[in-house]
Amino acid sequence: MKVELGQVIASLEDYLRCRKEEGVEGLPVSGDGLASSDERLPAGKARLLRNIRQELGECTRCKLHRQRTNIVYGVGNPEARLVFVGEGPGEDEDRQGEPFVGRAGQLLTKIIGSINLSRDEVYIVNIIKCRPPGNRNPEPDEIRACEPFLIKQLEAIGPKVICALGTFAAQTLLQTDEKISRLRGRFFSYRDARLIATFHPAFLLRNPERKRDVWEDMKMIREEYCRQEA
Ligand code: URA
Repeated sequence: MKVELGQVIASLEDYLRCRKEEGVEGLPVSGDGLASSDERLPAGKARLLRNIRQELGECTRCKLHRQRTNIVYGVGNPEARLVFVGEGPGEDEDRQGEPFVGRAGQLLTKIIGSINLSRDEVYIVNIIKCRPPGNRNPEPDEIRACEPFLIKQLEAIGPKVICALGTFAAQTLLQTDEKISRLRGRFFSYRDARLIATFHPAFLLRNPERKRDVWEDMKMIREEYCRQEA
């Protein structure tokens, strides 16, 4: 209950921040301007996510299970309106069972902060849930085995905006071979959400000169995120 109340408060704070960024200086005291129905309560979505985790179980659906330490399911707010989708767990994530906790993860946390959000307000997940040996790219059979769970997670959360991090997430979600440099910077439709792709934080660590591009993408995300809420 404590976590759920915290998430409701975080949603409310975020709603108010978005309105402030749009120049709104006051809200009607009647509450007409605020959603008041149960749809913002996270219990249903949190339960759905727990059920999907249970269905995943101690997964052996692909060969990656042999070398993994932990399944990296996903983390964040079940009610998130913005979901980040990465590639797959690295060494730190495999050890801790949580996505984006290593160096690239620290950068992702800063990127999320740059649009006035925190990791607790968004949801973070990967295309695949087990670490590929030596951090190699995920293989098609591994994605095929894992993707149904990613899709169920996205359906449960029902985000308005999805940010695909890096070539792999972008190409998998958009079913294309197009390069990330050509995919980034514009919105696509993905089911009921708007999807934007940007460079992966690990790529940014190696190519800091591309941070400006990511900042441009993040500004677009923030605008769309606030627009969807208004
Ligand atoms: N890179 C990813 O794509 N995902 C993680 O969870 C960590 C690093």
